[in-house]
Amino acid sequence: METYGSMPKIELHAHLNGSARDSTLLELARGLGEEGVIVFSDVEHVIRKSDRSLTEVFKLFDLIHILTTDHKIITRITKEVIEDFASENVVYLELRTTPKKNISIGMTKRSYMEAVIEGLKAITSVDVDFMPHDVDARSGLNSLSTGRTCNGTSRKKIYVRLLLSIDRRETTEAAMETVKLALELRQFGVVGIDLSGNPIVGEWATFLPALKFARELGLCITLHCGEVPNPTEIRSMLDFLPQRIGHACCFEEAEWKKLKSFNIPVEICLTSNIRTNTISSLDVHHFADLYNAKHPLVLCTDDVGVFSTSLSGEYKVASSAFGLGKGEMFQLARNAVEFVFADDGVKRELREVFWPGLSGQY
Ligand code: 5GP
Repeated sequence: METYGSMPKIELHAHLNGSARDSTLLELARGLGEEGVIVFSDVEHVIRKSDRSLTEVFKLFDLIHILTTDHKIITRITKEVIEDFASENVVYLELRTTPKKNISIGMTKRSYMEAVIEGLKAITSVDVDFMPHDVDARSGLNSLSTGRTCNGTSRKKIYVRLLLSIDRRETTEAAMETVKLALELRQFGVVGIDLSGNPIVGEWATFLPALKFARELGLCITLHCGEVPNPTEIRSMLDFLPQRIGHACCFEEAEWKKLKSFNIPVEICLTSNIRTNTISSLDVHHFADLYNAKHPLVLCTDDVGVFSTSLSGEYKVASSAFGLGKGEMFQLARNAVEFVFADDGVKRELREVFWPGLSGQY
């Protein structure tokens, strides 16, 4: 069986808190247990369990947020998540997270995001490029984005860009606050907005004003779309023409037709879809049809922690389930360069990483 750890890869659909290490969550839970905030034995099995329905996944996120919503912990998790992706040769990561407010500990959406950015800056084991390149040039803050060599040895480099998620539980005002924050933080690598959260909660009309505003001001948009059967919402989402969508599990013929005619790239999360039972088995997964139709798609992890997976693991699953060889998987990874939300300068550099001559190695 092929492995994909050494192949350069692009991750475009990863939720920060869903990507936290189990070991970190268990350590945090143990700490809160000792402080008497939670009962550790009640939550240990929830963290360790690997098969969950979509509803159970959202319950787990509520638990994860109890464990992680603290500035220092958010910084730590951000650092660890990026290190983990870099260690499996993810060369470009778009990391998304929902900015959180918690007045009791003095957390605002802005201070939450500042803690995330601290995490990006704290990484020393790999070069992290997260500032837009035009800002680097103006401010001279490009030390993170250049160094490919250290003492003559080549260092690993990962490009990281951030997406701010709007949670479907939020109001229009809260969604607008997130978009305004994203605009203010563009100089720190925020490139877009995601709409996520429990798909059976909230109405498309609630989020539309904030999403329109985001787009008018140049942010890119990706939407969790079609995780549950809701044809009216799916059609409205596609008509909005987001730059990408995630999942696309519960589409009917009319929605497939629309998606394909609009050529909207799809972020595919195989393990997540199977674990949450959104798709019953890989044999009937829409990856095959989209791949055969040459529709733009990108393999992603969703939540490496929650679903006990990795991007290399997702490549392995796709290659064995759909009978694709290493060359085809390399091509799939390379295609994703065209769907990243970062600027053209980054795209150009990524094309060099995926230099065609390299495909012979895979
Ligand atoms: P965070 O935004 O807190 O960093 O990451 C966890 C959050 O991402 C969850 O609370 C949820 O709102 C969102 N999320 C993670 N995985 C999924 C998914 O598979 N589907 C949807 N709709 N939202 C998700």
